[in-house]
Amino acid sequence: MPLSLKVVFIGDSKVGKTAVMRRLLGEYFDPVFIMTTSGEAIKRKQLVVNNYNVELELWDAPGHEGFRTDAAVYMKNVKVAVLFFDVTNHTSFENIDNWLNFVPPAESPVQKTPTFIIGNKIDKASRTVKKEEAEHKARKSNSYYFETSAKDNNTEDFNQILKQMIEIVLDNSPGLTNSGTVPVNQALVDPWYKACVLL
Ligand code: GDP
Ligand code: MG
Repeated sequence: MPLSLKVVFIGDSKVGKTAVMRRLLGEYFDPVFIMTTSGEAIKRKQLVVNNYNVELELWDAPGHEGFRTDAAVYMKNVKVAVLFFDVTNHTSFENIDNWLNFVPPAESPVQKTPTFIIGNKIDKASRTVKKEEAEHKARKSNSYYFETSAKDNNTEDFNQILKQMIEIVLDNSPGLTNSGTVPVNQALVDPWYKACVLL
């Protein structure tokens, strides 16, 4: 039985949550913005991490107003919170503080839902959020920080980032893997992944 993890993507509108989701699902980068509406996007993705078969339930949330209405639904049983901002939009970075308030405490034995902050759109020249600034916020909020470009990073890059994130989650949440999960056969583990340098 795979280990099932609910992962939510939250953050201001237009920061790139849907674009990153599309990359994770093997789709191409679309420069045209299409607003995400509530309940629209719950996708499943399977991957092998640390010898575990993991099934991710990926929830792509709408921006602030739409999210607020359904916040309880989005955050129910969430196992991994992914908070996005746009490195060219400083307000979206400041608003990470508001988004952090939506992240619920994790169930025992973990005290905090594992939280990742993602600075997206690093391909753009008009960057206004420094990496150090973002890393500082991540440290202060006990989160992890990654930088991405839905335009330039391909599906393989995003798969690697996702695996690295889930590895962190599994390492920090022994309770998650204690029951109901059978590690996959060693031979099934992708050797390329093991040899790969992440990011
Ligand atoms: P969401 O509201 O957070 O889901 O944002 P979207 O994923 O819909 O993206 C908003 C807009 O930014 C769209 O026009 C995307 O094509 C664009 N976009 C998203 N990610 C990137 C990126 O990494 N680089 C660039 N240059 N544009 C991006
Ligand atoms: Mg969207």
